[in-house]
Amino acid sequence: MLPWWKHSKGNGPVLFYIVGVHLLAVMGLILFPLPNWRVLAVALAVTSIGGIGTSVCYHRCLAHRSLRLNRVVENILIFFTIFNASGEPMSWVANHRQHHSKADTAEDVSSPRHGGFWWAHIRWVYQWSGSEVGRWCPDLDKRRYRVWRRVQIPIVALSVCAGFALGWQAFFWIGAIRLVYALHFQMFVNSLLHMTPGLPEGVDSSRNIWWLGPLQLGAWGENWHRNHHSDANAARFGRRWWQIDIGWYVIEVLKMIGLASDVKTTRNKFSADARGARASEVAALSAHMLKDAE
Ligand SMILES: [Zn+2]
Ligand SMILES: [Zn+2]
Repeated sequence: MLPWWKHSKGNGPVLFYIVGVHLLAVMGLILFPLPNWRVLAVALAVTSIGGIGTSVCYHRCLAHRSLRLNRVVENILIFFTIFNASGEPMSWVANHRQHHSKADTAEDVSSPRHGGFWWAHIRWVYQWSGSEVGRWCPDLDKRRYRVWRRVQIPIVALSVCAGFALGWQAFFWIGAIRLVYALHFQMFVNSLLHMTPGLPEGVDSSRNIWWLGPLQLGAWGENWHRNHHSDANAARFGRRWWQIDIGWYVIEVLKMIGLASDVKTTRNKFSADARGARASEVAALSAHMLKDAE
């Protein structure tokens, strides 16, 4: 209901950040259209670690409890996820659990079906009032997670400015340009990966998009979003050997060296692929509607 430029209560700093970081990124691209290799390598590395933080720690470990992480590894990943400006763990998990529980309905946090592309892509970030922690993730309402709420603004401020240690070009590329890139390639999970035109109401809109994967860097694997919605508690998002899933490889390595445990695997290891699953779902729904019509 709000015009695009208005934030919901308490989300002023979020809107300020989004506008500010875009302005800085545009300025940076005008002044330094191409970074040198060293700056680009640092920017890609930091984005990748943040992407692994979102995908392995926030998404698979904290939101879905698909694995347990060693406490030190968990905290390092939370730091880099906030450094990527993906928010603190409690609100991320609350929003995400509501997304799964209410997917494709008007109560979904970020449904493009109900709010359109821009709502699903970015408007919900500053216009959604935030899912209640008490309702969606009481298990995370602990001092060790609450503390990240207090430090997230200083961490994001550090993230915007830290590149300056390597000069002006690094200030823009390791700061604002990296942050804008990370923001949009994670937001595509909520927007593009839930946009399947022509689906009847009531059918899961999630999709797999292969080309989004490499662009998501460390979060590559999140692009198999249809697989994920079909078996949300599985730690592995890729279902076939060619469905690259960086988060899963990281989990396997962490498990091997004793830093991850209780890893939940897929329900049906090689279940029908996404298209097959959707075809049967649409068929079941049509049969149901036909029965109703009769
Ligand atoms: Zn989804
Ligand atoms: Zn999920």
